[in-house]
Amino acid sequence: MSKILVIGAGGVSSVAVHKMCMNADIFPEVHLASRTKSKCDAIAQSVKTRTGQSVETYEIDAEEVPAMVNLIKKVGATLVVNLALPYQDLPIMDACLEAGVHYLDTANYEPKDEAKFEYHWQWAYHDRFKEAGLMALLGSGFDPGVTSVFTMWLKKHKLKTIRTLDILDCNGGDHGQAFATNFNPEINIREVTAPARHWENGDWVETPAMQVMTEFDFEAVGTRNAYLMYHEELESLSKFNPEMERARFWMTFGDEYIKHLTVLQNVGMTGIEPIKYQGQDIIPLQFLAAVLPKPESLGETTKGNTNIGCIATGEALDGSGEKTFYINNICSHEAAYEETGNQAVSYTTGVPAMIGTAMMVTGAWSGANGEGGVFNMEEMDPDPFMDMLNEHGLPWQVKELDGPVGF
Ligand code: NDP
Repeated sequence: MSKILVIGAGGVSSVAVHKMCMNADIFPEVHLASRTKSKCDAIAQSVKTRTGQSVETYEIDAEEVPAMVNLIKKVGATLVVNLALPYQDLPIMDACLEAGVHYLDTANYEPKDEAKFEYHWQWAYHDRFKEAGLMALLGSGFDPGVTSVFTMWLKKHKLKTIRTLDILDCNGGDHGQAFATNFNPEINIREVTAPARHWENGDWVETPAMQVMTEFDFEAVGTRNAYLMYHEELESLSKFNPEMERARFWMTFGDEYIKHLTVLQNVGMTGIEPIKYQGQDIIPLQFLAAVLPKPESLGETTKGNTNIGCIATGEALDGSGEKTFYINNICSHEAAYEETGNQAVSYTTGVPAMIGTAMMVTGAWSGANGEGGVFNMEEMDPDPFMDMLNEHGLPWQVKELDGPVGF
């Protein structure tokens, strides 16, 4: 029987825990631990009211490996779902190895002192997980996560090879605030202020942050400006689809967001180097994150839809020449809030976290036929995951386009 221990009590965790408890046949026992126990208790209370299920809660600093090992053993967990921050990935993986349990996360490791998100730190754990017969599944959110599975589904069912890939992430929601981020502000701002990078002809091409822009008409949202950015699934997608000539990631931002971010950057508020303030070391970006609205507080006011998907061009599987397909999901902020009390950015991440966990506990996905190791979503059969997306609140659609993207 599976016993899940979820770490972190933000918006993503809240959605994942609600969805696990709505599927008690797969997840009969869910435990929740985070740095601030009162946030775990608030999630447990909401879960009880909405589903009738009970969730045990604990306080933990996930960077303290021995404390994590004790907690895993105390609750008898079989799988740890890491929905804290990317900084905690490696200590939680260490604790899982020591306690002998499986691992899943939604974002790759990032050192605190450098905005550099790369898989190599976590891929380096492969042999240790394999030797222990344990599975670690990396990046089971929407992007990375669903975007990786979407791409591999196209490659399984529509395209023999992928020549070009564009991932388009649009949050068309309006939260009514002058400036706020839809997931953890510190991680979000580190991501969008980092230089853009895309994959082209076997190498990375770097451009300054937020400089390359295209307009795109998103269904259920409208026309928006999408900016070229680096996103971590480009690394795994280019590794597992080496034939790709080009892979890019685009995210939409409104003019207000860009205006505020530009000012904050210009005055030094997005810096991650410590500065002295009244005799104390503070990190400007962490201070900024502390004064910005909490992502989990935006649910009630956010209206509109997200629309995230992939456009892939390549040689058709049926031998009919080059074809282009667009596969995407549209998610309503209001519907997400109604169901779980969280807005759609948390919902579109928390649901795939639940589904990835379900893939592991039901055995639908077992890395290297159960031998264990560290795996990306691209290495798994997309079909059972895609079925669960349709059944659990993130339905997808696929259509053929007239030709490759013109941008
Ligand atoms: P939040 O900031 O809302 O929540 C993070 C939680 O982790 C908080 O409850 C925080 O505690 C807790 N935490 C932080 N440090 C520690 C620690 N040392 N020990 C224990 N708990 C800790 O973030 P989100 O819910 O928005 O995002 C969660 C994760 O999901 C992030 O890694 C983010 O990058 C990822 N993500 C992935 C996406 C995808 O599509 N793949 C999209 C969006 C997010 P406290 O409450 O005390 O602050």
